[in-house]
Amino acid sequence: MNLVPDTDSILYQPCQEFDFTNPPFDAKEFAQQLYQQMTHHNGLGLSANQVGVPYRIFAIRIDADPLVVFNPKIVDQSENEILLDEGCLSFPLLYMKIKRPDWVRLRFQTHDGETHTEKYGGMTARVILHEYDHMDGITFKTRASKFALDRATRKQMILKRAHKKANIEFFKRQRLNGTTEIVPQVVQTWYEKDE
Ligand SMILES: [Zn+2]
Repeated sequence: MNLVPDTDSILYQPCQEFDFTNPPFDAKEFAQQLYQQMTHHNGLGLSANQVGVPYRIFAIRIDADPLVVFNPKIVDQSENEILLDEGCLSFPLLYMKIKRPDWVRLRFQTHDGETHTEKYGGMTARVILHEYDHMDGITFKTRASKFALDRATRKQMILKRAHKKANIEFFKRQRLNGTTEIVPQVVQTWYEKDE
């Protein structure tokens, strides 16, 4: 299981429902693998199509707990929208402020086919809404204004260059420290300078 490149058409097509009566693969095993991939890449969320699997499944971390949802449906969400920074494992080093509802009520199935409905707020709601878009073949790039996307793309290029310079050593240390922040400090400074 690997991340597909951002040019892969699977990222831009709606995903299929996972049929628990005739499962295309073992749901529990896949849930574990998807969550592992997410933590391996230090992500807050990861959708199945990002690893080349065209089903409506995504993994998130709620506090420290793993949650992998199948066939999610947003049944309610706040009218109030807030701007928050987002990144995406499919678009490394691209960070943009995106406006989305600040809470969401989600109905989903777990790997055993059981249906749950839960309300989520804060960063969890944000990650859910981002991953939910992936289910429909929508990436956060389409949610950003052209201005914000152009600006973030320029910064992404700067970050990529800075990465090559600052490189690896910092990442290694961060991995060892077990932090989830993936922007090395050196690079972060460059990023801020560009403001
Ligand atoms: Zn994403």
